[in-house]
Amino acid sequence: MVGEVIYLDNAASMPMCEQARSAMLEVIARGLDAANPSSPHRPGQSVRRLIDESRETAAELLGASPGEILFTSGGTESANLGLIGAARAMRREQGRHGVVVSSIEHHAVLEAAAHLEEEGFAVERAACDGRGVVTPDAVAYALDRLAARGARPAVVAVMLANNEVGTLQPVAQIAEVARRAGALMLTDAVQGPFCEALDVRRLGCQVMALSAHKFGGPKGAGLLYVERGVPFDPILFGGGQERMLRPGTENVAGIAGMAAALSWARESREAIEAHKRALEERLLSRLFREVAGLEVNGAGAPRVPGLVSLYVPGVEAETLLVELDMNGVACSYGAACTAGSLVPSHVLRAMGLPEGRVRSSIRVSIGPFNTPDEINEASERIAGAVRRLREAGDRAAAAGVNKP
Ligand code: PLP
Repeated sequence: MVGEVIYLDNAASMPMCEQARSAMLEVIARGLDAANPSSPHRPGQSVRRLIDESRETAAELLGASPGEILFTSGGTESANLGLIGAARAMRREQGRHGVVVSSIEHHAVLEAAAHLEEEGFAVERAACDGRGVVTPDAVAYALDRLAARGARPAVVAVMLANNEVGTLQPVAQIAEVARRAGALMLTDAVQGPFCEALDVRRLGCQVMALSAHKFGGPKGAGLLYVERGVPFDPILFGGGQERMLRPGTENVAGIAGMAAALSWARESREAIEAHKRALEERLLSRLFREVAGLEVNGAGAPRVPGLVSLYVPGVEAETLLVELDMNGVACSYGAACTAGSLVPSHVLRAMGLPEGRVRSSIRVSIGPFNTPDEINEASERIAGAVRRLREAGDRAAAAGVNKP
């Protein structure tokens, strides 16, 4: 619960875990971040140690070494820096100016790619299949299109888990395709913090983005893994922090909270995934019983537990979400990142779903802190809301009023 509301929008942001909260409170309450970590004096150096410890923790949990972890302000910055920093450096050092991104990436990647296009990069978008999965073949085909345009590939970007439908992408196989083509592999792993595969050695990526508020840490803190020795340029300038690749005084409490949250997320991974899977099964079995015609978008594809895109025929998602909000259930319409605005999902469209289905789909995302009782109650409220809206639609149709 968040206040009186059953909170089923954990993919947008989840509540902080106790470990992150106490790590941050300790930093703030004890004034551990009083000095500037770049200052050479002892107070500055003790703040520096705090950051270094967090970096070591994060690196160990992700299969990286500490020098390969850059702290950022969150997922958007990590994805922007990851794509633009790698692409520009590959062009500068190797004359490569091709970029492949999947068509179901978050806008943090898609719009960074569009920006690169304006800078003269050749960008190809790899399609997904009808289940919301980007296959290695689709990436190879996009690389062929780059070759036909005379562009050698600099970066391939495919996310670990999709934020709208929860589908897992075959990142390790795609990384192999990218490696053979001489490109760096970037994966936006923001929606995969609890995935078993979240280890840069297993994924075979050279660049990986994470955001703390998706795994129980604070908002406004993220990290970027950049493999040692790969070409990489900063996109911000004016300081020597983070190996000059991400200048700016560090968010010390945020970094400490993120490291504590990452430890919790990785160490409790199996229990969290099992919990979310059980709650998802509970929700779906009830909804399938109560809501005629309900379908899961991306059904049949491997998915992260707890993140489901539901097609509810006969109701507009926008109306349903308002009705649910008024009845104490918070979920969303695809991505929540365009604050408050309901832009039709580019992911559902890329999956080839008809426009009517896109407009009648909502995203429910269950988190580690939801309970079975909440799920029982939420499924009743969702079924009730759908029933009321369908009845209102039927009455309007009988009265000759056009449905929207
Ligand atoms: N990438 C993905 C896959 C996301 O789901 C999000 C946020 O929803 C982001 C990037 C952006 O992260 P942040 O909100 O930390 O900027």
